[in-house]
Amino acid sequence: MAETKYIFVTGGVASSLGKGIISASVGMLLQARGFKVTIQKFDPYINIDPGTLNPYEHGECYVTEDGQETDLDLGHYERFTGIRTTRDNNYTTGQIYKSVIEKERRGDYLGRTIQVIPHITDEIKRSIMYLGRKNQYDFVITEVGGTVGDIESTPFLETIRQLKWELGKRALCIHLTYVPYLAAAKELKTKPTQHSVKELQSLGIQPDILVLRAEKDLSVNLRKKVAAFCNVSPEAVIQSIDQNTIYEVPVRMAEQKLDSIILQKFNLSTEKEAEMGPWMHFLERRHNAKEIIRIGLVGKYNLQDAYKSILESLSQAATYNDRKLKTEFINSEKLTTDNVAGYIDKMDGIIICPGFGQRGIEGKIIATQYCREHDIPTFGICLGMQMMVIEYARNVLGYKDANSAEMDSGTTHNVIDIMEEQKSITNMGGTMRLGAYDCTLKKGSLVFQAYGKAKIAERHRHRYEFNNNYKEEFENNGLICTGINPTTNLVEIVEVPACKWFVGTQFHPEYSSTVLQPHPLFMSFIKASIEAAANK
Ligand code: GLN
Repeated sequence: MAETKYIFVTGGVASSLGKGIISASVGMLLQARGFKVTIQKFDPYINIDPGTLNPYEHGECYVTEDGQETDLDLGHYERFTGIRTTRDNNYTTGQIYKSVIEKERRGDYLGRTIQVIPHITDEIKRSIMYLGRKNQYDFVITEVGGTVGDIESTPFLETIRQLKWELGKRALCIHLTYVPYLAAAKELKTKPTQHSVKELQSLGIQPDILVLRAEKDLSVNLRKKVAAFCNVSPEAVIQSIDQNTIYEVPVRMAEQKLDSIILQKFNLSTEKEAEMGPWMHFLERRHNAKEIIRIGLVGKYNLQDAYKSILESLSQAATYNDRKLKTEFINSEKLTTDNVAGYIDKMDGIIICPGFGQRGIEGKIIATQYCREHDIPTFGICLGMQMMVIEYARNVLGYKDANSAEMDSGTTHNVIDIMEEQKSITNMGGTMRLGAYDCTLKKGSLVFQAYGKAKIAERHRHRYEFNNNYKEEFENNGLICTGINPTTNLVEIVEVPACKWFVGTQFHPEYSSTVLQPHPLFMSFIKASIEAAANK
């Protein structure tokens, strides 16, 4: 295909309608037709990145291979399409302003007054066009966070207006809105959608396709009405009804020919059918899986979005093991040695979740000890792995005050310590050990078996590390370091071979599990949990 095409995804009426899922679905469908696609997200908030945000604000912080802390929607993009995103796939208002201000300080603007239009909008434009520049992609999909009418998203929408004009037939806009159902009147209401489209039009953007989120089926007449009011062709009014799983969404979109409509609007051939085979196979297995596997997540955030990628990785692995996943959140702040059995015995496997700071860590240690002593499949991720190390030091090596320097900087047994290069860092934002690093696996270990190879690379997000001074002592006492960074010697994985499945990873495997390529560690963990359930 000659020139890159640009698809903008905007939203109206309410937030949380699933723009990320729609963008990911469009990406997946175009990819299934053989096109090369990338997906980008703009977040209108001022933070430079979500790295310093509390998960209660925007959910999980997703990390790209090149070490950018990004919005969790990038996780959806990767899980749906298998593409690997980079720092160019997520920009916040803060980042855009920062680079404009840095240019101004350098003197790049030659004495001009710096304004939202054209300087901020040009910077936004540059970050959109940059992805298309190398002609690597047939389509660049750009999702704009927030809803039309927000003060914050206005510069992004103004940029889309300009780009739609400049690119002509090479750009289109998909607008996602909400059609509420009024139970008392027994009616679906399109007025908010009409208003939202009017708002978009008043900013100079005519949407080409409308995706209407609703809880009930929309009639043909209702869609015709929306089409007539909004200057959109009736077949380009698509409905998006709640699904059992987000992974059904691309299929519902394809049934309504969303991908063909996009191609037609770009004057591209629709002859070549989408190759949906592997995706449909995944959905079929998911649908057919009846037997339940129960996984407990020990963490401090009682919020689905805080552990989004972990939940998705577990559910993908469950599907490929023909199980229906049931997860339960176990609040580590509530765990005591007296009540831990009550929470954990019901579960087939346990995840000790990542996290930061003191709150809830003693509960995580109690859970870890219980799991190890009762041989329950346990997967510690990042802080979870560190908790496994601390628990082992306290209860097997006998160092009762063992801790992480993060929680107790004065501990005499700092089995988890601050990384050397982190010691001088005072800025919190974007300064952790971030992104993909190589790791060599020990032959014969459980993780080597799971991956089926010795050389891997996984994504990180942490400041503290396993203290190598204790390595020999741990290994002599049964906790083995089975994954090591070949350049820095940092311990990346620990496991206890005396247990059936007791593995901790300093990295976050959950960032790289996708629908078509479930992560080998989650696959292995779920298999072990199924076995544990069978032997109960
Ligand atoms: N707080 C720990 C560290 O910084 C673990 C971080 C995490 O779980 N992502 O090392």
